Amino acid sequence: MRDPWTGDVVAEVALADPEHVEQALHLAHQAAGDLRAVPAHRRAEALRQVSTALLERRDEVAATITRESGKPITWSRAEVHRASLTFRWAAEEALRWSGELQRLDSEPAGDGRLALHRRFARGPVLGITPFNFPVNLAAHKVAPALAVGAPIVLKPAPKTPLSALLLGEVVAGCDLPPGAFSVLTVEDAVAPDLVADPRLPVVSFTGSGPVGWAIRDAVPRKHVTLELGGNAGVLICPDWSSGADLRRAARRIATGANAQGGQSCISVQRVLVDRALYDAFVPMLVEEVERLVVGDPWAEETTVGPLIDRAAAERVGDWIAEAAAGGAEVLTGGRVSGTLVQPTVLVDAPAEARLCRDEAFGPVLTVAAVDGIDEGLRALDDSRFGLQAGVFTHDVRTAFRAHRELEVGGVIIGDIPTFRAEQMPYGGVKESGIGREGVRAAMEDYTESRLLVFSEV
Ligand code: NAD
Repeated sequence: MRDPWTGDVVAEVALADPEHVEQALHLAHQAAGDLRAVPAHRRAEALRQVSTALLERRDEVAATITRESGKPITWSRAEVHRASLTFRWAAEEALRWSGELQRLDSEPAGDGRLALHRRFARGPVLGITPFNFPVNLAAHKVAPALAVGAPIVLKPAPKTPLSALLLGEVVAGCDLPPGAFSVLTVEDAVAPDLVADPRLPVVSFTGSGPVGWAIRDAVPRKHVTLELGGNAGVLICPDWSSGADLRRAARRIATGANAQGGQSCISVQRVLVDRALYDAFVPMLVEEVERLVVGDPWAEETTVGPLIDRAAAERVGDWIAEAAAGGAEVLTGGRVSGTLVQPTVLVDAPAEARLCRDEAFGPVLTVAAVDGIDEGLRALDDSRFGLQAGVFTHDVRTAFRAHRELEVGGVIIGDIPTFRAEQMPYGGVKESGIGREGVRAAMEDYTESRLLVFSEV
């Protein structure tokens, strides 16, 4: 594995051989029974231990993320902090996880009957994660699985396995049965065998669309969650018009589009501005983008580091060139050198350009003017993806309307779509996926409701 910034070899990682894979699956299968017998207070305690240990080892884990992914170090630290919160939140949810009692005597047939619904783990979970948040996206699968007593086998991205292995080490140091959590470093070619294995009835995948949908097609009878990509948009409404409003939107969009090289599934990619505000807003946006510190991921002030590899940077460069050839004007950026892409703002990009249609996963955004809320919401929704959308407005009616009309997993009012808190339900519609993560949502996902009916006789 190579450091995306220096190109140096970071580490050589052993691949799990078929015997290791078999051992992990066998242990997970066995641990399902053992974990079920662990009371909630002990599961919560183990999750708290992981949360604390992550904070204690924050600098080491953050440095590992930066070394293997090129993520700016301050963002890596923030990621470890978030992962720690994810485990802390799961510890709390493990204690609340109980069930629901329902009266059945709403009709005569139910006289004297009561139903108890409880959710039980469906079985061991296969978690598959991408390179861009190698610790927190793993935490979003591991913590809820352990909270509901489901063993989990994690297959991390081959580009960033080191921090996932560190997470494995941290969890192994806590009070859980053997096999509760395993990390398997396998090549992509082996991953379909894991997906198909009947001992892993739940597959929780975060990554790109083509891989995710192929998994769904390969195992239609398994419980599959897909957290896939997007080309998130923001709309600046006519009422967001004061100088301070526009400056705030420009600053937030500059960060939301470019932080960690735009390699986030909810990175801002499309900006729609009401025509009355367009001329004032665009220069502010360019100014804020040019203010971002680009380059060395180890420097405390850097926001935009390298992309994961040269191929990724070259692809983003090709897409910028394609849009420019189709008539787009590059207002700033547009340069690619090695793994670094300068934050780029384009206007007048043709609708058919890949930068408008597909997921850029790079520090690039397009800006377009729209006339009024109707056209703005339509343009915001004009995407085959649907993760989150941002709407800058003070008007509560517009907020409710955006919530009603936009086909997305979440709408963020007064801010960019690049926002995720660990407890909130998070996920997409359309080509962005199926199901929701966020600690509580994933706990529901990994479990099935089972009914117990009491009859008074
Ligand atoms: P990727 O799809 O290339 O890889 C993701 C994971 O899938 C890796 O672990 C990879 O080894 C594995 N994989 C590859 N082929 C497989 C196969 N045939 N069967 C099973 N697993 C296989 O994605 P990436 O490049 O690592 O990550 C970037 C993508 O992830 C972007 O599209 C981004 O939007 C998406 N993402 C989504 C979210 C979300 O929550 N919605 C969060 C982060 C990233």
